[in-house]
Amino acid sequence: MPKRLASTATLPLEDRAPETQPRRAAVLLPLPLAGAYDYLIPEDLEVEPGSVVTVPLGQREVFGVVWDLLPEDGRPGAADGGGKALPLGRLRPVIDVCPVPPLTAVARRFLTWVADYTLAAPGAVLRMALSSPSALEPPRPVTLYRRAEQPLSADLRVTPARRRVLEEMEESPARPLAEIAAAAGVGTSVVKGLEKAGIVEAVSVLREARFAAPDPDRAGPALSDSQGAAAAALRQSVAAGDFSVTLLDGVTGSGKTEVYFEALAAALATGRQALVLLPEIALSAQWLQRFEARFGVAPALWHSDLTSAQRRAAWRAVACGRAPVVVGARSALFLPFPDLGLIVVDEEHEAAFKQEDGVPYHARDMAVVRAQLGGVPAVLASATPSLESLNNVRGGRYAHLRLPERHGGARLPEISLVDLRADKPPRLETPGGSPGGGQAWLSAALRGAIAETLEAGEQVLLFLNRRGYAPLTLCRACGHRLQCPNCTAWLVEHRLAGRLQCHHCGFVGRLPRSCPDCGTEGSLVACGPGVERLAEETRILFPEARTGLMTSDTLTGPDAAADLVRAVQQHEIDLLIGTQIVAKGHHFPQLTLVGVVDADLGLFGGDLRAAERTYQLLHQVAGRAGRAERPGRVLLQTSEPDHPVMQALAGGGRDAFLAAEAEARREAGLPPFGRLAAVILSSPDPGQVDAVAAALARAAPRQPGLTVLGPAPAPLAVLRGRHRRRFLVKASRGFRIQAALLPWVQAVKLPSNLRLQVDIDPYSFL
Ligand code: ADP
Ligand code: ZN
Repeated sequence: MPKRLASTATLPLEDRAPETQPRRAAVLLPLPLAGAYDYLIPEDLEVEPGSVVTVPLGQREVFGVVWDLLPEDGRPGAADGGGKALPLGRLRPVIDVCPVPPLTAVARRFLTWVADYTLAAPGAVLRMALSSPSALEPPRPVTLYRRAEQPLSADLRVTPARRRVLEEMEESPARPLAEIAAAAGVGTSVVKGLEKAGIVEAVSVLREARFAAPDPDRAGPALSDSQGAAAAALRQSVAAGDFSVTLLDGVTGSGKTEVYFEALAAALATGRQALVLLPEIALSAQWLQRFEARFGVAPALWHSDLTSAQRRAAWRAVACGRAPVVVGARSALFLPFPDLGLIVVDEEHEAAFKQEDGVPYHARDMAVVRAQLGGVPAVLASATPSLESLNNVRGGRYAHLRLPERHGGARLPEISLVDLRADKPPRLETPGGSPGGGQAWLSAALRGAIAETLEAGEQVLLFLNRRGYAPLTLCRACGHRLQCPNCTAWLVEHRLAGRLQCHHCGFVGRLPRSCPDCGTEGSLVACGPGVERLAEETRILFPEARTGLMTSDTLTGPDAAADLVRAVQQHEIDLLIGTQIVAKGHHFPQLTLVGVVDADLGLFGGDLRAAERTYQLLHQVAGRAGRAERPGRVLLQTSEPDHPVMQALAGGGRDAFLAAEAEARREAGLPPFGRLAAVILSSPDPGQVDAVAAALARAAPRQPGLTVLGPAPAPLAVLRGRHRRRFLVKASRGFRIQAALLPWVQAVKLPSNLRLQVDIDPYSFL
């Protein structure tokens, strides 16, 4: 990389010759430290703010980012927490500058902003940005193979496999071994054999991934009037090139994706990069197909299932401006875009955008911040927008575009309620005596609808948001329940995998033959349904139907997910049973019946968003039905048919439901009308965590406009062997909650094995 002269224009000192480079750099390290450390800039290195460098730290060499260039004597309080700066002569020197472009000022401001907002260490946020350390190193050469100059000699044995390889390599540029072998349908040893014979040669090259430029001028589908109007509005906000937020609020199947593709096209036409955040990127095969159909090439992908080589390639391509469109999970927000011109957040209401571990942040909210700092538009799309976003629309902060109809005249499905109190699922006739004793979960009404749908040659989706076979295993003799040894949680039986599993810590065990408490043999019984158990029931009731399971346990990666989606699309599956994974974005034209087995799941439990989320999830699931010519219907099994959520779903009264929900939140001073923060303490030692919690409670801030509730044992009182206590901090909307929290949590000295986590705007209350 050409070394550029650092700009001295930002420096406040007048007494230095403008062409001399500053000698002191404040370098932020991707570690949970308080701030940046000062380093000496050697004469022969040229750095600028944002340069990615390697520096010594103790005995190690670590990556860091130059956060600031400082005057020789250090600015008081600039870098090391207000202490006196070390004299220049005692600083350790920067080792080298990495061969990647410097982080832009906007990117650095964003990282600082996120750290200030979440109260995380700036280095912890930087670590999310430097998430592919190997990308910071010089590219390594790769070995590629090509046809050698050498002509084929008469004594070369040309087997059919060798012939295919030679044909494959004819006139082709050098390619990786595995790629050639796969294209020719042979093992790699065939290519290697030809290399030995001198017919093929290996060459070493520096290869950098480049994501082909999507073509913004390819024609998209002809848009309907309302789609066209929405697309024009989005194109206009991209053309304005200023910060704006637009809520694209359209019913399921209304073509939101096609509409925001127009915004992407507009951003691409200006030559800037665009980012699309999806809640479940590993499950987005259909989305990717549509992107390719629209723009001719695949976008760059960013998610946790990438290999480290893929991460490296994507990170470098983004940093070097060779990835025009990035589609990613929430962490893609921290990629080093040099020139980001548009951010789209699809399914903006999804809880998956909230990161719970490490630095807790909400990617939708931070996307809006990133857009604001960069002075670019953001688009939030959903069929069931969050109350937060709707409130911003109401306050005039966000623009609102509505798509009230399904594309192509498809009707929204008819949703009806099945009252489980009146229509109890009839027990199953099982001559052999099934282990569940004939217990069933499908009501007569739902069974009838399934039978009709299958008979008509159409597809059925049964939705149950519970992985595994049964959520609880109980001893019939003594009532003992099988619990995770590390968590306050029941073990979930996964019968297909033949094991018990904790969904919180990942603990795995075998189902014991006898009760671990009373020792009775064969007394353990499954309680309640999971999707595996539901599949057992449908196999008995509808033995002819080809059944597919769609859960995070059966879809082990993007390929498995894509395969299943394809199988449903091609109608190789009649009856699909799934957890919330099926709710997201899939378009199955022949699916006409959705049965929600337990609509009440998730309605209760101390989560302030329980009703809102249940509405969003069930509406989304319902939206899978009847997306093409054939009308769809949805049956919701509930024991709470009078609950406002059920009434809203069945009556289609979204806006009235949300207005009532908003009013209740406003009265209680809850988000989005008030602010919340959680402080969670955890330790392996319950006595210690209680003592620290008591000390924190004594030091709690007492200010008007702020209430500190707790400490209380967390609902998940023990997680991974750590005892947990929670505080909940409530404040009015305008209150700077961080300013009150920071001195508070710093006031109490924490033992080394005690962890304190601050969660601003919490979404999980476990
Ligand atoms: P949403 O995201 O609002 O649920 P989609 O964008 O997935 O809706 O659109 C639903 C289906 O309708 C998709 O298969 C999409 O390709 C199709 N579609 C939407 N708009 C158009 C259009 N203007 N022309 C052709 N097909 C369209
Ligand atoms: Zn556990």
